[in-house]
Amino acid sequence: MGKKKSLNNIYYHLPVWLQNVLISAYGLYINQIRHGKKFHQALEKVESNLALSSVEFDQYLVDQLRDLVGLAKAHVPYYRERFKEIEPQQFQTLADIEKLPLLEKQSIRENPLDLVDEREDPEKLHVIHTTGTTGTPLNIYCTAEARKLNYAFFSRYLHQVGVTYKDSRVTIGGRIVVPSWQERPPFWRNSYFQKNHLFSSYHLSDKWLPFYIDQLKSIKPSYIDAYPSSVYTIAKYADDHDNSLSGITEAVVTSAETLYENQRALIEKQFDCRVYDQYGAAEMCVFIAQCEHGSYHVHSDCAIVEFLDENAKPAAAGEEAEVVCTGLVNRTMPLIRYRIGDKVVVGDNNCKCGSHFPTVERVIGRCDDYILTPEGNKIGRLSPVLKGFPVKEAQYRQSIVEEVDVLLVKDVGYGETTENEIVNELAKRLGNKIIINVKYVDKIERSKGMKLKSIVSNLK
Ligand SMILES: [Zn+2]
Repeated sequence: MGKKKSLNNIYYHLPVWLQNVLISAYGLYINQIRHGKKFHQALEKVESNLALSSVEFDQYLVDQLRDLVGLAKAHVPYYRERFKEIEPQQFQTLADIEKLPLLEKQSIRENPLDLVDEREDPEKLHVIHTTGTTGTPLNIYCTAEARKLNYAFFSRYLHQVGVTYKDSRVTIGGRIVVPSWQERPPFWRNSYFQKNHLFSSYHLSDKWLPFYIDQLKSIKPSYIDAYPSSVYTIAKYADDHDNSLSGITEAVVTSAETLYENQRALIEKQFDCRVYDQYGAAEMCVFIAQCEHGSYHVHSDCAIVEFLDENAKPAAAGEEAEVVCTGLVNRTMPLIRYRIGDKVVVGDNNCKCGSHFPTVERVIGRCDDYILTPEGNKIGRLSPVLKGFPVKEAQYRQSIVEEVDVLLVKDVGYGETTENEIVNELAKRLGNKIIINVKYVDKIERSKGMKLKSIVSNLK
């Protein structure tokens, strides 16, 4: 971890033009991971799934499930004992998935390699570090092919939105592309080969928003890929100042936070285009995204997703339910009936678009607050900060603007310098004016519905 962080620190002190060169070079590498060999094959395959009839599609999923269970039982240590009494032939319909036990996040965290296909050499696999939506750090092992397949599902979705993965975009997400101490534009960097303009989410204050808007007007990206709170902040400012954003872009794609109805309405009005919200996970085991009619659909050929009530039985339409995922993308580390920790309101599977994909009325998993900094910035998503740190759980609490409390549950490997490293990472996002108090606890209290809230704001 130390190496990556110090590379970042060097990056922040380079001149802007050199940062652009580095970001472009990194973009080339990312393109290779996403679109290199086998991507086009994968995209063709997943696109062709859309042409299957409803019966064919269900059969396809049952075949996939049977295959995955067989593979897990034969080659994955974690499942060997647990699937002892289970035979792949027992799976005749999707409902048979209930025969399988649930997988807890804790099991993945404690012994991730136990879930990896023993025929693979972990050293040669890609490792994805994630904190998920609940703040629990996890390591996910996968092959290069799995990442391409995963990206093929997202690219198929972009087609539905009306753009392609090759089109130009503006990204306003969690990555720190501009150091927090920078106090004049540009608050964006360019990834040349990806045609991606990365905007900072951490400088969206009234003082700088006019620069953001001018830059958007000059770039005119095919689509904007953003956190809801970030693109909403821009739309709100434009609305307050009678500045129309019409004609800037063809679509706004949001993810990673809950998109509220008032946010959607204002973004669509101000940008004069549709907002497409989607919900995925770094674990590559769920993909739920809005169609052109505004319904959230489960892309079930990417992952079979169940919605369970309190008794672990399928919930009915209109009910609040827990999301349980069986990923079909990452067969190297099969996550079968994985309790990802999010909730939805189940849909009635009726949508004008005619898709076979089941619907969700609403994703309620990630209702999070934000931290307000003394500079007036609202910082919404802090869970990426702890990626790779030896921390079991975390929560940020704020009662006054000048201070934020960080509650941490330490994990093995938490050393003397860890606290400083974490505080430094946080300061990059929250700025240097806020006081960061680290507090150690044994456990973080859950809010109603078992959800660990990442940010608790008690600001008046
Ligand atoms: Zn639809």
